[in-house]
Amino acid sequence: MRKLIIDTDTAADDSFALLVGLLHPQADLKAITIVAGNVDFTQQVQNALITIDQAGRSGEVPVFKGATDPLTRPWLEASAHGDGKGNVDWPQPRQLPESIHAAEAIVKMANENPGDLDILAIGPLTNIALALALDRDLPKKIGELWIMGGCDNSIGNVTAAAEYNFYVDPEAAQMVMATGFDVTIVTWTLTLASATWTSEQLGAIRDLETPLAHFFSVLDTPNKEYNESVGVPGSTHPDSLTAMLMVEPSLILRSSRRRVEIETQSNLTRGYSLMDPREVRRVNGKEFNATVIDEIDALGFYTRFVELLSSPIR
Ligand code: CA
Repeated sequence: MRKLIIDTDTAADDSFALLVGLLHPQADLKAITIVAGNVDFTQQVQNALITIDQAGRSGEVPVFKGATDPLTRPWLEASAHGDGKGNVDWPQPRQLPESIHAAEAIVKMANENPGDLDILAIGPLTNIALALALDRDLPKKIGELWIMGGCDNSIGNVTAAAEYNFYVDPEAAQMVMATGFDVTIVTWTLTLASATWTSEQLGAIRDLETPLAHFFSVLDTPNKEYNESVGVPGSTHPDSLTAMLMVEPSLILRSSRRRVEIETQSNLTRGYSLMDPREVRRVNGKEFNATVIDEIDALGFYTRFVELLSSPIR
């Protein structure tokens, strides 16, 4: 069982990753921390609280508010999600957010559970960078840090060079990659190849007719409509994929060690993630600093997620 914190810019697929954390038998979700990203910050906090409520876990997992802007750059919203909760009104969640800052909460919890607490970071890495600024020994105290971000030397979803999470706060991403965390990365490249669900697959979820399947379908629809407007057939699930792989590692078919660096200087390639697999690097002789997931059991991921949506709510 994994003790974990999920750091999230909660909208749509972030909520589905939270469902994995809240409902999967191998996940022991200790906290949710909110970072500036996908949609309006206050809305993201609300979306996380709604998700906890819909999962039947109200009052059991604290939500901490973190960075409301990237480290040095203006906030940039994602265009794929509407308000991140399907553009409908859900019942008012009963839980309220905590008062201490997310970065302080991460440091405090890491010190209380040395080596025994993992982080799943599925938004820009601003909160993790702030926590690192508070405690430079944080990488030694955290077990594993799983990140959804970047592209595998491939085409991005914000610009041709960059994926959203790394594009929004490249300084935070580079700071986190440079400081010795035990990092595993799920990329946008892998998401497009293996976590894009077709209309038939989404229809099968709708037909489950469980409360969670309804919640999923409503939140997912704006993403599917956006994707189809930009030529991606179906809805994409980068964050829930990363969450699921953390607790179902048998779904990982292939991974590789890489040197990952994030571009912070260029306007043209801002947020580009160089993921270097070479054993011998003549110019940049730095050590490998991440495991990148190369291939997964795509049908297995979908099937496990459907099982989760079929599970009863307490
Ligand atoms: Ca996210």
